[in-house]
Amino acid sequence: MSSAGATVTVVAPEFNAALRDLAKANDHRLVAREFRPSDIAGHWLVVSATGIPEVEQAVYRHATEAGIFCNGVDDIKNCSYITPAIVDRGAVVVAISSGGAAPVLARKLRAQIEMMLPAGISTLASLARDWRERVGKHLGDLLSRRRFWESVFDGPIASDAISGDITAAEARLSQLLDDSTKEQAGEAWLVGAGPGDPGLLTVRALQIMQMADVILHDRLVSSEVLAMARRDTDLISVGKTPGCLANSQEEINALLVDLVRSGKRVCRLKGGDPFIFGRGGEEAEALQKLGLAHQVVPGITAAAGCAAYAGIPLTHRELSQSVAFVTAHGKDSLDNLDWAALARDTQTLAFYMAVRRFGDLMNNLVKHGRAADTPIAIIEKGTTPEQRVIRGTLGQLTLLADAHRVTAPAMLIIGEVAALGGEQQDREPQSAHKYAKPDIRIAQKG
Ligand code: SAH
Repeated sequence: MSSAGATVTVVAPEFNAALRDLAKANDHRLVAREFRPSDIAGHWLVVSATGIPEVEQAVYRHATEAGIFCNGVDDIKNCSYITPAIVDRGAVVVAISSGGAAPVLARKLRAQIEMMLPAGISTLASLARDWRERVGKHLGDLLSRRRFWESVFDGPIASDAISGDITAAEARLSQLLDDSTKEQAGEAWLVGAGPGDPGLLTVRALQIMQMADVILHDRLVSSEVLAMARRDTDLISVGKTPGCLANSQEEINALLVDLVRSGKRVCRLKGGDPFIFGRGGEEAEALQKLGLAHQVVPGITAAAGCAAYAGIPLTHRELSQSVAFVTAHGKDSLDNLDWAALARDTQTLAFYMAVRRFGDLMNNLVKHGRAADTPIAIIEKGTTPEQRVIRGTLGQLTLLADAHRVTAPAMLIIGEVAALGGEQQDREPQSAHKYAKPDIRIAQKG
């Protein structure tokens, strides 16, 4: 309390020597008698630490009646405020409270945060405080100010300040401010969001989501993933659903280009990997043609995510030497596929966007020689809490899909490996944090 500049009055019938010394050193007033209601007047905060229930209650009641906050230390009933555990780094203070529910947990969290926050963070915060007004004058709009401070806190200026080299930090900061007043160019990142489980986002994807001014996302990107964006980021859905700002691929490309041209940092967030059946190639071309800056951030593609969460290894030393990612929804659909090659043994096929083509692709594969008893697995809404895994054989494909009313998005895996993983998965889902539910094994080879 003294370090916060408080004037402290302590009321107690007796004081020990330690308390007297402390009071002397800090200029506290000691009142040697029992509590009286009039003691409360003129104070901002009251702490009652007598351990005597009647006194605690009386202090709390009188303080509350006088409109003054009171803390009964470990007695939560007699508290109108609580004192959280704090990590104090000068200008940066982190307070941790469990609202009295779990003080040990709060202490544990505090220890973790202590480790995360370097001591020099207060130097960085002081530097920002000293420059805030100047930066505000130079950079008129909110967006450029936000970008400026993000560059400060993410880059070498922060490292200089944290390591205590204020001169170097200030020189860089001054340079950055000069550069920032020049016109900012927009940029796009084509980012893979993975198949659904937010735990499958890459660190890079998360960084870009946090830094972007706008996120243009597909319908397939899960709400749990979108929840990881900054709150003030514009989220624009460009799925093929009513009410979307852009529906056709051409409209999406045009919107992306417009946003980048207007100087925005755009995160184009796509399900799975942006360059696997995501039409990311077309978006990159549209940007490329106009010389607009862009980068690609790969993501976990649906075949890899769904297979892993169903316990299916896509390749296997004894069962499968290769894996093909195939779409049943190409420009000219199934006609262009080399069925003879796809029907060969000892390879795994992962079919994307196939739900409505199951009949055709089953017939084509069998006609070209793939055995009707080849194991298959359909993974619907893989890696999400609604994941379903339906297993059987190639010859049963349409029957199974109808019986289980399989709907998109679903991944079809064909090959000997599709028989692996099932039973163990039933008991123990692949996801370490149990995001996906265990699969259901409904049919064996037959
Ligand atoms: N770029 C994406 C694929 C987009 S095409 C990627 O790399 O994964 C969309 C198809 O992907 C869907 O029709 C479906 O076949 C598959 N898919 C995407 N997410 C899926 C999921 N969570 N579960 C099962 N299949 C999924």
